[in-house]
Amino acid sequence: MLPWVVRRTRLPLLSLRCVDCRSGSATTGDGRFRVNANGNLLDVWLLVRCVSCDRTSKLTVRERAPVTSFDPAELHGYHVNDPALVAARLLDPLLARRNRFTLDWTDAWRLDIPSAWRDEAWPVRVEVVFEDPVPVRPERLIAHGLGLSRNDVRRRVKCDVPLSRRTSAGFTFTVMAGD
Ligand SMILES: [Zn+2]
Repeated sequence: MLPWVVRRTRLPLLSLRCVDCRSGSATTGDGRFRVNANGNLLDVWLLVRCVSCDRTSKLTVRERAPVTSFDPAELHGYHVNDPALVAARLLDPLLARRNRFTLDWTDAWRLDIPSAWRDEAWPVRVEVVFEDPVPVRPERLIAHGLGLSRNDVRRRVKCDVPLSRRTSAGFTFTVMAGD
């Protein structure tokens, strides 16, 4: 089985309405958290800014959380703006739901394909692995990866998930020989 890997090339933008200029796009930029202590309770925010007017907004990561509820390494990560933690929080569906934004993955990911796949005997079986939760339509991903039309994909590909429904979970498919 051949592996195809979907991975991000940078952090996605956020589809988030700016209260000042009404632009619908924000970025985490270099990635900064703000931690505010109030007695034994901590608030943690991820800062994002509007791509059009630079207005900064705060996304709630943790709210009035007891200091003791934090993993020390994670708390340190918030203080030093650990890039891996910025990515982990931004890609966490809970943060998106709580702060009412969606991720805009346009031009923020790529599909890595082993170059030798054309030498494989038909039918070819492929396993798609997601290193990052990029939502893709299997039909489009497979058409792009194989250089086929979407009609060809519907005709020649057997997939274990619905071809036209977006997913960011791994799946496998089989390509039958062409005519
Ligand atoms: Zn703005």
